[in-house]
Amino acid sequence: MTKLCDASACVGCGACAQICPKNCFSMQLDKYGFWVPVVDRNVCVKCGLCQKACPALSPTYTLHEPHAVLCATLKNRPEVLKKSSSGGLAYALSHAIIKQGGVVFGAAYTPDMQVVHQEVTDLAGLSALQGSKYVQSHLNTTYQQAKKRLLEGKQVLFVGTPCQIAGLYTYLGNTPQGKLLTCDLLCGGAPAPGLFAKYIAYLEGKFKQKITCFNFRSKKYGYGYLHLLSTFNGRKSVLLTGKDSSFVRTLGLGYVRNSCFDCPFRSVQRVGDITAGDFWNLLVPVKQFEQGLSLGLVNTEKGHSFIKTHLAPVMQLKTCTLQDLKNSQNVSIRPTKKKPADYDEFFKQAKELSWPELTKRYIWPKSSFKHNLMDLLPPCVTSVLRRTILRVKLWRQQKAK
Ligand SMILES: Cc1cc2nc3c(=O)[nH]c(=O)nc-3n(C[C@H](O)[C@H](O)[C@H](O)COP(=O)(O)OP(=O)(O)OC[C@H]3O[C@@H](n4cnc5c(N)ncnc54)[C@H](O)[C@@H]3O)c2cc1C
Repeated sequence: MTKLCDASACVGCGACAQICPKNCFSMQLDKYGFWVPVVDRNVCVKCGLCQKACPALSPTYTLHEPHAVLCATLKNRPEVLKKSSSGGLAYALSHAIIKQGGVVFGAAYTPDMQVVHQEVTDLAGLSALQGSKYVQSHLNTTYQQAKKRLLEGKQVLFVGTPCQIAGLYTYLGNTPQGKLLTCDLLCGGAPAPGLFAKYIAYLEGKFKQKITCFNFRSKKYGYGYLHLLSTFNGRKSVLLTGKDSSFVRTLGLGYVRNSCFDCPFRSVQRVGDITAGDFWNLLVPVKQFEQGLSLGLVNTEKGHSFIKTHLAPVMQLKTCTLQDLKNSQNVSIRPTKKKPADYDEFFKQAKELSWPELTKRYIWPKSSFKHNLMDLLPPCVTSVLRRTILRVKLWRQQKAK
């Protein structure tokens, strides 16, 4: 078994594996712990379909200039909004599609805590998709399934990172796409599934119980700071602080997939009909901020008419400016992300060291003082601090007017 190609831009979407008529691919974890397609050359008939479906080798997607920048939050559904990472934009799109008899594809945890894309056909299934899982998701056969649904004439929503949406368009090729709606996420890079498995195993060992759910963005103490909540055996929930919460830092520190460094989607121009992210640094009333704010980009006519018809009744929407977008996102729309000098060493050591040792040697020393302090303070304190800072900023803004 060998790697299919040396495309350093391989995003690991597995479009090649999904299109192969001979099933000669498997998705495996590479030495860094990311999903890559691996081909069995003994079975390969060199038909070349895999290369045609690859978004890195044969890009067949369009990047759109957004028509509008929105700040959005779900109306009147506080319990649902609590489960979403931001303002619930991805959830609201999914809800509307299911209501129309369509299907949704998004990322959920498997019972052994892998992050895998799956198809959801009813409203009850949507909660599994809610919440950002900051790990490269395995796309399994979801491109194949989405194509099948489109050919059956069903409405399809596909939510994923921009490279996954680009992979979908390239895979679909000439398949009719009138009933396809896509939502790409603003993305600062995807951390490694192999590393996440190590981290989960460490937590399970420490707490001596099986993890059944992991929330990277618990809103127990409000929206804003990344509070990690781990649920054990479906019952006990533990808010992870200090070194136990360090996995999520691998994103900010740049221990992400190789293709994330020169990512063509790290831009204001977007691949999906709609883009969803967090609206950081937008000054809004504190109560609204505490519930979660989505940044929505409306990129195509299809996205525009869907939002107008289906989201306006269920979401509080505010039109913002391109400058608000730029103020909000300091990494996900900037052209390049710097690769850490110790990138290879980090992933090599990740295999040797225990999770606390890895954190002590690589993650904590490189994190900012502010982040380390925020992780050490009890969440109720950080939440009061955050609210106070926001109130002061709002007061200053009003005074300046
Ligand atoms: C790896 C990653 C990096 C991100 N980086 C940024 C960033 O730098 N800046 C920013 O503003 N936003 C970023 N986001 C997006 C943000 O965290 C929220 O996912 C987004 O705002 C949607 O929130 P919501 O409340 O609208 O959706 P929710 O209702 O919470 O639904 C979340 C949606 O995200 C999808 N999803 C969850 N995990 C994954 C995954 N691993 N891969 C693909 N799809 C997934 C689910 O299918 C679901 O549809 C990132 C997300 C991921 C997964």
